[in-house]
Amino acid sequence: MKRPELPGPDCDIECITEPVAFTPPPLVQGDLFDGGLNQVLNMMPELVDRAKQKPASIRRLAKALGIDEKAARKLYEQAIQIHDHREAYQRYLRCKEYWDWRRSPEAGIEIDRYRAEMDELFRSAAEVPVRHYVEIHHVDQEVARLLDSGFWDAGGGYYGPMDWLVDMGVITRKDVEILLKRGYLRVTQGDPETLLTDYAYPEQAMGRWLDDRIRCGECKAVLDYNLVGLNHKLGRTEEAHYRCLTCLGLSEEQAYSIIGRYKSSGCPLFV
Ligand SMILES: [Zn+2]
Repeated sequence: MKRPELPGPDCDIECITEPVAFTPPPLVQGDLFDGGLNQVLNMMPELVDRAKQKPASIRRLAKALGIDEKAARKLYEQAIQIHDHREAYQRYLRCKEYWDWRRSPEAGIEIDRYRAEMDELFRSAAEVPVRHYVEIHHVDQEVARLLDSGFWDAGGGYYGPMDWLVDMGVITRKDVEILLKRGYLRVTQGDPETLLTDYAYPEQAMGRWLDDRIRCGECKAVLDYNLVGLNHKLGRTEEAHYRCLTCLGLSEEQAYSIIGRYKSSGCPLFV
């Protein structure tokens, strides 16, 4: 038996989402002694369609048939069962081709195979090795503003695979260097030695506005991490007193040599 196309010509989604019955409901004798069941069944679409509360439907029924509410309730319960069964059987008939296939051994095999494929897909996805788990937390506001990424400005943290941060573009290699140096980033699993080399870090990170940058208090040039470190070493520890190289009267060579010296001594203010 071959799997039919879905949806079939008469198929609506109800055939799949609503209950179906594969056998017709029992026939209701259409004689005078059925206690009014046929009459109630004929009223059923209207009673159900109006989406009325059940007690209201039963009162309506009692009034229409001139019987008490207890008898009306009994008839209603009987009728709704038959009504639902009829509907369920109609759904089966509308999508008979699909349901006959669905109940066949061939379908069972196909569905099992599909499930196995999905399981395998999940398994292989779970097997992609996580090279590093990292923890980042409570990044100091000044340090956060010296990062390429604005991700840490709000003081939030992260615990999870390094891949996610790289894939989302919320960290650059320089950011990792700074966060490692200052102890805000901790490798909880994996080799810390390969953290900087194992990933294709993005050139630019998202979420950093030009206005957020730390700038020279005089000429407003943007200052990077090492320049802020240099200012600290020169006793300029307040942002208003930070200066760029030009305003400090330093040449690039002089700055490079000072920064290099501190860097090689392991000072966390330089990367
Ligand atoms: Zn300046």
